[in-house]
Amino acid sequence: MAATTIALLELNNAGEVFAELGQNAMELFLEEFRNRTLRFLRSDDELIEVQPTKLCLLLKNVTDRVQIELAGAKLHRLFDPPFSIADEEVNARVHTAFVPPGASSEDSRNRLRVAESGLNEARRQNRFFVIQEYPATNHVASFRRYREIERAFERGEFVMYFQPLVDSCHRKVVSGEALMRWHDPQLGVRSPDQFIPYLERSAILKSLTWFALKSAVAQAARWPSETTVAVNVSPMLLHDDELIPHVADALSIFGLAPQRLTLEITEDAVVEDPRGAIEVLSRLREIGVQIAIDDFGTGYSSLAAFRELPVDTLKIDRSFVANMVDHPRDNDIVRAIIDLAHALSMKVVAEGVEDLNTAAALQGLGADVLQGFWFGMPMTAAEFEQLLG
Ligand code: C2E
Ligand code: CA
Ligand code: CA
Repeated sequence: MAATTIALLELNNAGEVFAELGQNAMELFLEEFRNRTLRFLRSDDELIEVQPTKLCLLLKNVTDRVQIELAGAKLHRLFDPPFSIADEEVNARVHTAFVPPGASSEDSRNRLRVAESGLNEARRQNRFFVIQEYPATNHVASFRRYREIERAFERGEFVMYFQPLVDSCHRKVVSGEALMRWHDPQLGVRSPDQFIPYLERSAILKSLTWFALKSAVAQAARWPSETTVAVNVSPMLLHDDELIPHVADALSIFGLAPQRLTLEITEDAVVEDPRGAIEVLSRLREIGVQIAIDDFGTGYSSLAAFRELPVDTLKIDRSFVANMVDHPRDNDIVRAIIDLAHALSMKVVAEGVEDLNTAAALQGLGADVLQGFWFGMPMTAAEFEQLLG
């Protein structure tokens, strides 16, 4: 079978039309929904009516992302003009989920379920269309997990924890890193490695990140004005058009000064596309937020490459920090990163500090800020606030 993209369209306000204008008007409304959809189809495509308000399209010649974006825009234009129903102008509230072709073994029922979860996402984000990738590993089990996570998010089971970052000289808490936790009613508190890997390339990772950003900024607005907050941005979202508007919105809604927000971007996200990264990071910097490069030292980038980047802080990966007291080589790497960062006027955070000796060694090498279990585990927002006194 040739590669096919699925588009699932849903009309969301037929019920309202029925309530306000009656049965006849609703039927005309549904008919117009179907007619406009038909205008979009090409001769090879197929239309399947799942329900009168839900139409599934099989698009034969739409296969890559660019084509899907174009198809989405075209469909959106078709639904833009209001419907004329019983002398009234009614706007159709339509959402669409596109599912690009996945592995050859995929079965169509499974893809329809993926499309349904795309529709949830489109409704949640209030967007005309989303592109819902087939889950990376094409296994029913991982898809089930994906749906489980999606429902947990809808039930509000995700919360942000905060881990203290302390000033290396005075050991005073200067910042909190927001780390996500899933409060699973059955299994208790679950950490990101139990859900983030299942969400790669999915629309829900976006929703989770925007949620993390908003809740972290909301919390930080309650802290003393010298305390900052750090939020992780997954590499996939670095180039997302919505990132900058979401950051700006969160800051203005909660009234947080931009300098009090640090966005943590992993080193590999930057290495993959340095030019693109410079552009996005510069725009974020214009807003006034701080940028930290996370997991630094793991990405095989040349340190010099970072000279070009608008970056405020390097976070040394905990794999170097963990053994630096016993392994001279790790100690040398940590020292080199600290010296270079300082030469480039960047601050250094060392993560994964688990004991007093490591803290002392890092202080001796000039690390600016320390983070790790020795100073505090990730904790609830209420516990973190108590710590700040
Ligand atoms: P990360 O950004 O490198 O976060 C630091 C991780 O190291 C956290 O794991 C933290 O609990 C752990 N950690 C801190 N101090 C120590 C220590 O002394 N020893 C050891 N062994 N570990 C320590 P966590 O919370 O499980 O998060 C894992 C990763 O999940 C994070 O790594 C980050 O990449 C990702 N993550 C967490 N929350 C979010 C989020 O809201 N959005 C995104 N995009 N990613 C997140
Ligand atoms: Ca981080
Ligand atoms: Ca890290």
